[in-house]
Amino acid sequence: MFSYSQNDLYCEQVPLADLAARTGTPVYVYSSQTLLDNYRAYDEAFGDLPHTVCYAVKANSSLGVLALLAKAGAGFDIVSGGELFRVLRAGGDPAKVVFSGVGKTAAEVEYALSNGIHSFNCESEAELALIDALAGRLGVKAGFSIRVNPDVDAATHPYISTGLSQHKFGIAMADAAAVYERARRLPNLSAEGVSCHIGSQMLDPAPILEAVDRVLAMAAALGAQGDHIRHVDLGGGLGVAYQPGEKTPAIGSFIESLKARLRRSGLAVMVEPGRSIAAPAGVLLTRVLYRKKNGTKEFVIVDAAMNDLIRPALYKAHHEVIPVRRNTLPPITADVVGPVCETGDFLARDRHMANVMPGDFLAVCTAGAYGFVQSSNYNSRPRAPEVLVEGAAWRVIRQRETYEDLVKAETR
Ligand SMILES: *Cc1c(COP(=O)(O)O)cnc(C)c1O
Repeated sequence: MFSYSQNDLYCEQVPLADLAARTGTPVYVYSSQTLLDNYRAYDEAFGDLPHTVCYAVKANSSLGVLALLAKAGAGFDIVSGGELFRVLRAGGDPAKVVFSGVGKTAAEVEYALSNGIHSFNCESEAELALIDALAGRLGVKAGFSIRVNPDVDAATHPYISTGLSQHKFGIAMADAAAVYERARRLPNLSAEGVSCHIGSQMLDPAPILEAVDRVLAMAAALGAQGDHIRHVDLGGGLGVAYQPGEKTPAIGSFIESLKARLRRSGLAVMVEPGRSIAAPAGVLLTRVLYRKKNGTKEFVIVDAAMNDLIRPALYKAHHEVIPVRRNTLPPITADVVGPVCETGDFLARDRHMANVMPGDFLAVCTAGAYGFVQSSNYNSRPRAPEVLVEGAAWRVIRQRETYEDLVKAETR
């Protein structure tokens, strides 16, 4: 929930200029209201259909964010042992955790089994065999679902498209039934269902609907051979509006469009949304350090960089860059760049934007997902702090790193 009152940008009831002056910049700021609204939009749209909304931890894995969602009843989709550690530390319920990913290690599988997670979304036969063996050694049953690769084009950025047969993800539809049947007979596995995840930042729901149809058809075929299927997991991937006016399916109406066919299947449903819950809930605040011109080109040099938010450099992603305090000067066209020594270090290019001066704060919008989590210490820059806003109150949920933090795991 970010909006202007007069000329000042607020997160909920907190004026961001005051916050930035207190915490310093760069700083990530998250709205707890937006996080909860987006989580509840999924949860409420499913209504009485048996369902679990497993928030995809990789989108934003800060303990403060996870704890907020855990308290609201969320389950979690994890892709590493480290993410499970975070979920447990945040008070999440392991019985609502699903473990995705093509490369789970034995140590990660053991850690997940000994903490009693709900199930593994399995992506190969070798992985199923490993989980069976480790579950046997620990004397537990491991829930599994087969992640199928439905071979539909998510029509999104190639790096975040995952549902085509050329991608490393999932098990080919043609092989899935046989793999499922063999896995079902392994002594320490317990069959749960079928899952898919075809990509991220999907603005058109059509590919998701197509994948859902294929997954439901697969689930029905498997169910016909026995009653060994309990749920379908539809993955995440719903897109958000990074540009004003960009059309995105609303969470509620998207789920509504799926409900009839899900109800007909008689199966419980899981979803794994990340971006659509967290992205609109966050901004990255940064301070203007300098203005300069190279020839006719204008640069706004700020104190946030590609190590803080890599999406523009990595995916050519667009983030709106807006002033924390609006002024009445005529707008400019400029590149917004950081201090890192790479030409790829930009937050915005040839952007028509507010005429900001050194010392002014800017907000880089829709930065709540795949923002801080992809940040690094490149150029030995301490990582930014994170702040969670709740109404008129705010608190630091991750401290700014210090120079000592930069070297604390090193020896000379
Ligand atoms: C990344 C990922 C998600 C979340 O995707 P969003 O686009 O953030 O909703 C869900 N499931 C799996 C398996 C993923 O890899």
